Amino acid sequence: MIKTISYLGLGTMGSGMASNLLKAGYKLTVWNRNAEKCQPFARKGARVADTPADAVCDVELAMYSLSNDQAVEEVVFGAKGILSGIKQGQIAMDMSTVLPATSLREQEAYAKRGVDFLDAPVFGSKNESANAKLWIMAAGNKAIFEKVKPVLEHLGQTVHYFGKNGNAAAMKLVGNLIVALEMEALAEGLVLAQKAGLDLNRVMEVVKVADFRSPLLVSNGQNILKRDFSTSFALELMLKDAGLIEKFAASLQSPIPALRVAEKNLASAVALGFGNDNASALIKALEKEAGVEVKGR
Ligand code: NAP
Repeated sequence: MIKTISYLGLGTMGSGMASNLLKAGYKLTVWNRNAEKCQPFARKGARVADTPADAVCDVELAMYSLSNDQAVEEVVFGAKGILSGIKQGQIAMDMSTVLPATSLREQEAYAKRGVDFLDAPVFGSKNESANAKLWIMAAGNKAIFEKVKPVLEHLGQTVHYFGKNGNAAAMKLVGNLIVALEMEALAEGLVLAQKAGLDLNRVMEVVKVADFRSPLLVSNGQNILKRDFSTSFALELMLKDAGLIEKFAASLQSPIPALRVAEKNLASAVALGFGNDNASALIKALEKEAGVEVKGR
């Protein structure tokens, strides 16, 4: 049974997961590029490491959730990175949203050191991470997955095994393609409703119950009406994911015409200066084009 874990990357997602690992009683080591974010964990008994290599040197499982492929490149492959500290028999698990090709590169590099690797990205956002309600996918060696599953069950409400390395990363991009199109649909729909002079609170009452409802449409729609764009999933991360989906789909010659439209609007909203707002701020690009602001009563 795994007892010692390190968590690297204490951003929106990582901080929630690391807190839940502490609550579950694991002996935890933390590392974050901006070391200040480690302090709340130190106060709760976690060891704070100076470098990624130091963070992983004495644990059974090293987990990380980092912004993007570039961050994984630096934290895993860089000087004093995870690979320079991790040893045979340990397990590494990447929970970031990255290209499946990056997961495969990580797996190969870890295998050379006798280290097992799982790609294990998640669905859910800030609240689901904080409340251990994530939807988690994992891929890699089945026996290693079974060993790590009890840990993941402290972080999420579901854990799905996806087979060989890279498959969980691929599923994450499939899901985020759907998420991006839902956000685009919501934004286009609300702007059209506003232009048509509909009562937007009434519109959301229907969105909440109709056969096209989804929790994502409801929570984001209600927040847009309140003009609450506080960040659960940053707009710039969604734009990053759109780029990953585009690359991944191109590598498989799979068509993604609607994603390209959403990506253009995401980029416009980022260019307007809303990159650090929530992904629902995508609507601001359409609002500008339409000359309206979508607001509830
Ligand atoms: P976030 O709040 O921006 O946190 C990003 C983390 O990555 C921080 O710890 C940051 O360190 C670290 N980082 C970034 N660049 C780095 C670098 N070059 N070297 C070292 N560390 C670096 O992001 P998040 O929302 O937690 O997302 C983390 C991952 O989960 C992303 O891949 C995202 O796509 C994915 N994800 C997010 C959500 C969501 O709703 N937020 C949902 C599912 C999946 P600093 O603190 O020093 O900046």
